[in-house]
Amino acid sequence: MKCCLLCQRRKYEPFSFAWLFSLQSESDALLCQLCQSAFTPLKEKICTGCGREGTYVNYCTDCQRWLQTGISELLYNRALYRYNDAMKKYFEQFKFAGDYYLRILFKRELARFLRQRYRQGWLFVPIPVTAETATKRCFNQVEGLFENVTLHKVIYSKIKSKKQQSLLKRRARLQTPQPFAITSQDQSRLSGAKVVLVDDIYTTGRTLYHARAVLKAAGVAQIRAVTLAR
Ligand SMILES: [Zn+2]
Ligand SMILES: [Zn+2]
Repeated sequence: MKCCLLCQRRKYEPFSFAWLFSLQSESDALLCQLCQSAFTPLKEKICTGCGREGTYVNYCTDCQRWLQTGISELLYNRALYRYNDAMKKYFEQFKFAGDYYLRILFKRELARFLRQRYRQGWLFVPIPVTAETATKRCFNQVEGLFENVTLHKVIYSKIKSKKQQSLLKRRARLQTPQPFAITSQDQSRLSGAKVVLVDDIYTTGRTLYHARAVLKAAGVAQIRAVTLAR
């Protein structure tokens, strides 16, 4: 691979087979220095409730709001990267321009993170897309990003189409009705299970907390979340 996957500028370090067996992430191998440095990893200084960057005494205001809604526990989401301009552009190209190949950039890193953090007995459950999105886009970007782990697709979308979330204002987003359900054959195996919800972006948490609610109703004991960006 001689050119950067995102900007198509020539890369100096050539792609090597040694990389395939290394622990390096795809973004290191496939991007130029400039594009790579535009992504900001989220490490220590984050809200433990949602993975948002910053220093918080307890939780960030978003998480405090979720606690006020009466939920028993936060999702303790971990996001690998800050949702900055570079990440926004990446998602535009990946989701909306339909460049499915771009899932390759982060999938290895995401799989490694999940395996390290959630070693045993956890089911990885992706957030589904609506039927309309699936037809239009021909892929579920979440399943693409997490294709290196075994996904349990127990949640499905009840609604055929939705107003594109990214176009909704914050308040409208927080008020969306429950869009998810769980197939009846999956109900029984979820009772007492431990689930990690996986999604592409954590914005308000609304989508993930909707998913959490249907899992809770199905008797899931513990629910966490991991996203690529926050
Ligand atoms: Zn580049
Ligand atoms: Zn938070």
